[in-house]
Amino acid sequence: MATSGVAVDRCPQCGANLPSSDSERITCAYCGSSLIRQRPGGGQEAPAEEPTGAWGVHLKAISCVDQQGIGIEAFRMLIPADWQFEGGVQWTMNNPGMPAVVAFRAYNPQGVEAFEAFPNLPFYWTNNPMLTMTFPAGSFYYGNEVRPPAPALDVLREIVVPRYRGQAPGLQIVDRERLPELAQQLRANDPSAGAGVTSADGARVRIRYQLGERDVEEDVFGVVEVSQVPTPTFMMGAMENVFWMADYLFSFRAQAGQLDSLSDMFMAIVRSFRLNPQWYARTMQTSQYMIQNQIQQIHHIGQLSKIISQTSNQISDMIMDSYNQRQQTLDRLSDQFSQAIRGVDAYHDPTTEQNVELPSGYDYAWSNGIGEYILTTDPSFDPNIDSNLNWEPMKRQP
Ligand SMILES: [Zn+2]
Repeated sequence: MATSGVAVDRCPQCGANLPSSDSERITCAYCGSSLIRQRPGGGQEAPAEEPTGAWGVHLKAISCVDQQGIGIEAFRMLIPADWQFEGGVQWTMNNPGMPAVVAFRAYNPQGVEAFEAFPNLPFYWTNNPMLTMTFPAGSFYYGNEVRPPAPALDVLREIVVPRYRGQAPGLQIVDRERLPELAQQLRANDPSAGAGVTSADGARVRIRYQLGERDVEEDVFGVVEVSQVPTPTFMMGAMENVFWMADYLFSFRAQAGQLDSLSDMFMAIVRSFRLNPQWYARTMQTSQYMIQNQIQQIHHIGQLSKIISQTSNQISDMIMDSYNQRQQTLDRLSDQFSQAIRGVDAYHDPTTEQNVELPSGYDYAWSNGIGEYILTTDPSFDPNIDSNLNWEPMKRQP
């Protein structure tokens, strides 16, 4: 009986010992997971009834609405319940090929853990000397930065990391990896022959730096897609326009040494990311409208609204193919998290009649029907105890 205070609570995500706590929700100080504990039944129990120490991992869905442009949900995704979300859709106004960019951050406000999606970086290059005189490297050609194409690994090292983490104290690249399989699949599955993607390449770099007092590690992923458009010219033979893009740029950050224990959580975050097909279709139509009508720049928000009002909820086959391609590429990227030890499991959510992929390694999962999930290894865990929400157990899918 004399077990005074030696009950050890462990984080179900990373296995770290948790400080004893009588609160129902905590954030693991080692991995940043949002944890929830069921209340001891009855509420008014004698103090002898100590909390059992059964913690569940708690996730929530966030929905990001495109306030500036189309006015509907642009995407949704799952993040740890106590993390915060910032960013969303930005209309760039000066790039008809890419009028809207998505950039955001989901992060643990009490720690260093974060998932970040960086804006796509569009580039342009040409072998036309007349054009390179007017648009030298470093300038912008219709919203595209003028720069020769490069492999994904170089783009991450030389452009993405310096641009977004260049100021970080102690910054060093500790690991790098080409993801040629990903590039191969991208090429094989490119549905939009018209878009003319002639090559694709993927990579990952792991960086380490200091954030406040902490040493952190961050994995940065990206894909480079290159479209070469030969243009016959009168005087100089065939000139080539190269439009290329650094795409699917995102990163995971954790305390140094902890990234791998969170890889399944990050995998679940990426796989839960769903662009709204309606939003995607209307964004693509806006782009097509601007290109067809040779609108190089949107001058004010009223003009943007007018163009958007020309778009419809119709989703053409081409747009649907391209939408599916984006989702599949994200799933494939998430499969590449090199140390993904546990991966994800699919569960059937009876409240939505849909499957949802959650970090694996837990035997029990619950849904409350409003986008929140709890994962636990404890069979006696029941989030309905003393809760005014209705939690339903979910079945793991084979
Ligand atoms: Zn933890």
